[in-house]
Amino acid sequence: MAKMVNDNGCGQDLQSTEPNGPARSTAPRGPQQVLGKLDVHLSLVSTGKRCQEWISVVLCFSLIAFNFCHLLALFHLGHMWYILLGIVAGILTADFASGLVHWGADTWGSVELPIFGKAFIRAFREHHIDPTAITRHDFIETNGDNCMLTLIPLAHMAFNFLTFSPAELCHNYPWHCYVMALAIFITLTNQIHKWSHTYFGLPGWVVFLQNCHIILPRKHHRIHHVSPHETYFCITTGQLAELSPRELGFWSKLEDLTQSVTGEKPRSDDLKWAHKTK
Ligand SMILES: [Zn+2]
Ligand SMILES: [Zn+2]
Repeated sequence: MAKMVNDNGCGQDLQSTEPNGPARSTAPRGPQQVLGKLDVHLSLVSTGKRCQEWISVVLCFSLIAFNFCHLLALFHLGHMWYILLGIVAGILTADFASGLVHWGADTWGSVELPIFGKAFIRAFREHHIDPTAITRHDFIETNGDNCMLTLIPLAHMAFNFLTFSPAELCHNYPWHCYVMALAIFITLTNQIHKWSHTYFGLPGWVVFLQNCHIILPRKHHRIHHVSPHETYFCITTGQLAELSPRELGFWSKLEDLTQSVTGEKPRSDDLKWAHKTK
């Protein structure tokens, strides 16, 4: 999603903008000094965010590898159908969760909200205005936040593998397959979304997965990008969006229900926001 600060330039102005010596306390604060301080602040925020993204990605993929090795070691053909059911249910849950979060951010709230609006809602609204911005994000920026989201369930699963008896692990095997599939697909949702906006240079296996509808196909996601962005919110595999198109009215019924409870109109801020940027 769109970012306010360019990561590549972070830290460059740290020394040149830092005031020093007696001038710091006696000189009047001109606009350049204020802007300099703002630059330093934004650079530090950007560096901190980049660090958080790197740590999340490294920890998350290490835990996925660790848990995957344990699942492979415990694999038993007798559980095959339960395992398949767990994996399919995990993928569908991830798709539904992506739809619910996306619908919430696109439909309700305001970009003006103090922390939530700027840090979360704004990225979704900006994506409608500049859909290809996401394709200019590198792997760490694309996946950092989602990796942070799945750290706790993945760490909990790793703890189970280290502490449970073999009999308990065998009993919980389908559940662990469900959590693993859910965690992997939530982790990769932004990457899958980015691929759905990429029209050149995609690896063949990604195009194959898109064509098989195992991950969000490009044609499919294009429907969501038609204003007013009121359908096809599921962006992991997109399979649940097929089951809940405009005609069935799943999202519009949910909007009617929310409006009757809160009195808020759906997408009222999105329309203002899109208008302001024209
Ligand atoms: Zn959207
Ligand atoms: Zn999109």
